[in-house]
Amino acid sequence: MGCSIYWFRADLRLLDNPQFVNACQHSQSLLPVFVLPQPEQTPWGFERASKQRALWLHQNLHDLQKSLEEKGSTLLVLEGEPKNVLPALCIEVGADVIYCEAIAAPEEQSDILELQRAGLTINTQWQSTMLDPKTLGMDVQELPDVFTNFRQVVEKRRLRYAEPVARPQSIPPLPAKLAKQDPISELRTSLFVNGGESQALTHLEQYCERRLPDSYKETRNALSQFDASSKFSPWLAVGSISARTIAKRIHRYEDRYGANDGSYWLWFELLWRDYFRFLMLKYGKRLFSPKGLSQRTPNTVDPELFTQWSTGMTGVDLIDAGMRELAATGFLSNRMRQIVASHWVYAMNGNWQVGAAWFESCLIDYDVYSNQGNWLYVAGHGTDPRGGRAFNVAKQIAQYDADGSYRKRWLD
Ligand code: FAD
Repeated sequence: MGCSIYWFRADLRLLDNPQFVNACQHSQSLLPVFVLPQPEQTPWGFERASKQRALWLHQNLHDLQKSLEEKGSTLLVLEGEPKNVLPALCIEVGADVIYCEAIAAPEEQSDILELQRAGLTINTQWQSTMLDPKTLGMDVQELPDVFTNFRQVVEKRRLRYAEPVARPQSIPPLPAKLAKQDPISELRTSLFVNGGESQALTHLEQYCERRLPDSYKETRNALSQFDASSKFSPWLAVGSISARTIAKRIHRYEDRYGANDGSYWLWFELLWRDYFRFLMLKYGKRLFSPKGLSQRTPNTVDPELFTQWSTGMTGVDLIDAGMRELAATGFLSNRMRQIVASHWVYAMNGNWQVGAAWFESCLIDYDVYSNQGNWLYVAGHGTDPRGGRAFNVAKQIAQYDADGSYRKRWLD
């Protein structure tokens, strides 16, 4: 047992963070660290992460630092590339191992490889899914490519969720050599949710206490309305709550009030989230190639059309309303995400990768697995057995915005 670093990545929480508990149990002194992503432009000339996304991350980091300080530790926030800042930090504080969660996306995996090449010992653990992949009864390489087949395997094995783990009882002291650092400032923002683990847990409690799971299945496709869907995704994206904690709470809800279509469907959607994670474990980099899992060459990028779509100036009211909501709030309902993505790919012959990059930039709930998986799916480069989803805008309006209130709200 010596000095270690815990590198927080997309797991900004203390409850149900098995790898953090592991680091606490195996270190004499421990330095919790977060490495802020560097501002970066996409090849298409826009910021990789919008101001809203940065604000959301900031709020969650502030809350995590506060929780760690209450336990006598802290959170050191560094700027730069992990491969540059972490080796220097290990030398500075005398750490001989870095603990962190495993992330299956290519950039995050190459961060780990570069640190290993720099001679560091990195201890990783997979912990971002509701289900433990080891319980699936198959190697992830055998994962069915059709979601329904995957769900059937899960249901046949009666898998619900892996048991969340408790917060660490105590956190080892900070390394003696740590230089004094600035606290993360508290920010009030105009985001529609407040960041942090405590807020996430409060939101989950209130969501259940208000009996919203009961109506979830009927309301989840609404274009707006805060309560129509759970809004768990922003916290899940930065990991300030785990999918297992949510699944366990839903299970307790069912014990108390009885299972119903709504509570089942919430679990079902969390299973989609798992599915896209397992799919990335299976296919890795292939999901980021232009063709994805298909043989088709994607559409080319027309910069003028992309500007029209991304700024909400296509002239198609429903699409423009959605794209303006996305830019203004950093969020969009699942239904609107499907409609605008489909319109971009099929009606405007847009390139799915630039569409996915725009979502990555804007969404405060941006999640590499769910964003990539859903874009591939809608664009027909993924695992959709129907080969893609083209939505008819007029039909969607008739079904979800017949009174025009959603369009009015974002276009006026
Ligand atoms: P709810 O409807 O309440 O669902 C509960 C939870 O289930 C969500 O928080 C989410 O974790 C999970 N879930 C629901 N639908 C999906 C789905 N289709 N795929 C994977 N998980 C799902 N979700 C993200 O979290 N981050 C993204 O970057 C993202 N990009 C998307 C891009 C496109 C083109 C599309 C069509 C969907 C995308 N989604 C993404 C999935 C989905 O739209 C959001 O998870 C959902 O709208 C979040 O709102 P909610 O928490 O109220 O969801």
